[in-house]
Amino acid sequence: MAVRSLENLLLDQLKDLYSAEKQITKALPKMTKAASTEELRAAFEEHLTQTEGQIARLEQVFELMGHSARAKKCVAMEGLIEEAKEHLDEDMEPAVLDAALIASAQKVEHYEIASYGTARTWAQQVGQQEAADLLQQTLNEESETDQKLTQLAIKQVNVQAA
Ligand code: FE
Ligand code: FE
Ligand code: FE
Repeated sequence: MAVRSLENLLLDQLKDLYSAEKQITKALPKMTKAASTEELRAAFEEHLTQTEGQIARLEQVFELMGHSARAKKCVAMEGLIEEAKEHLDEDMEPAVLDAALIASAQKVEHYEIASYGTARTWAQQVGQQEAADLLQQTLNEESETDQKLTQLAIKQVNVQAA
């Protein structure tokens, strides 16, 4: 068995993320359509725009590393999206469905935060500082999105309780 270098591991991680982000761009419009509040729809729409930028950023990272951008199916993201879709077929009050959508979206963000954090650190370790900076930018966006979703969930529970 060939010995895998850290650079090789990083490339695999990038291919996984490239696939994950592309899957997210397909799932977000469905989640936007299902959301019942304007605020949640706006949050999903904003993150779709960000996600398109993140895909472009990954392409830059591949280029910096001297490779063409290629996706390797992220099975984990496929599963997370599959679970999110299950809620869309269920009979729920709009506010409850929103809570489910937020929960699903946060699982996606947490997966991305873990993956981008690792990729950023590995990029630093193999001396790809410019790539690491790009990955950090995306990591910041994912963290901000996660925090925004937490705020929306809290707000919604308060409205429900009132
Ligand atoms: Fe993303
Ligand atoms: Fe993955
Ligand atoms: Fe994200």
